[in-house]
Amino acid sequence: MALALGGVAAMLVIAALALAGFADAEGVPLVRTQAPRISQQVATDNRLYATGALTPVRCRLPRIREGEDESMRRFMETLSQCLDRVWAVQFGKAGMPFEPPQRVFWSEPGRGPCGSYPSPGTAAFYCPENNTMYVGLRHIVETAAGEPVSHYAVYARVIAHEYGHHVQERAGILPYGHQQMSVSDPAVRAEISRRIELQAQCLAGLFLGAERRTLPMTRAQYAAMMNDVRGRGDDRRPPEERHHGTARNYAGWVAKGYRGSAVSACNTWTIPAAEVE
Ligand SMILES: [Zn+2]
Repeated sequence: MALALGGVAAMLVIAALALAGFADAEGVPLVRTQAPRISQQVATDNRLYATGALTPVRCRLPRIREGEDESMRRFMETLSQCLDRVWAVQFGKAGMPFEPPQRVFWSEPGRGPCGSYPSPGTAAFYCPENNTMYVGLRHIVETAAGEPVSHYAVYARVIAHEYGHHVQERAGILPYGHQQMSVSDPAVRAEISRRIELQAQCLAGLFLGAERRTLPMTRAQYAAMMNDVRGRGDDRRPPEERHHGTARNYAGWVAKGYRGSAVSACNTWTIPAAEVE
């Protein structure tokens, strides 16, 4: 009898394992703990890295007008549509499915599955729970190192960075990073976070570099963008709170992407920890 029950239990376990990772037709929630472990190769050897250069979509952006939320919203929406097209093509090259992110460009406080906004010091974030980019129309200006809205590259970099997190999510890199963070000590957790964040910086630079014919990067635009990102470095924080990288690296990875000719330039997962300090 006990043997028979054991046999039934074993069969149920096998059935549960077979279902893990697939949508259940009955609508029964899947047990997350039975989801297969994401392999390191998803981050270190992603198919996206083999897709070469981004294909430019001749992105043109409307001007942002000082103090006009609607002009910032149009800027962000147009830019997001350019990013949709660029990354859809790139995932196509990799033979991977792609859905663009949802966006919430807020002017009023609100709440989502990743928490309420604005939260102190946060003008923009990506929520993997609902594949949504959140950006504050005014907060993005308030947190931009005093750069005027005429320095569009400062603002474009923020959107392209959050979009970078969506690219990581769709490619499986972000789920891998979060899986590793859940089992690591604080110092390692911070290093994994920096690999995630610096890759998003690089993907933002890669996009801006690919679109340089229609999004001209004058010396002043480039300097303003770099000034803004250097101001976001976390050099002075204790090691376990250093989730974004030093000023030098936070700017350096944007530059690396901007100069980079292929997605592979943005692989932050195979380089020594010293380069993601
Ligand atoms: Zn980020």
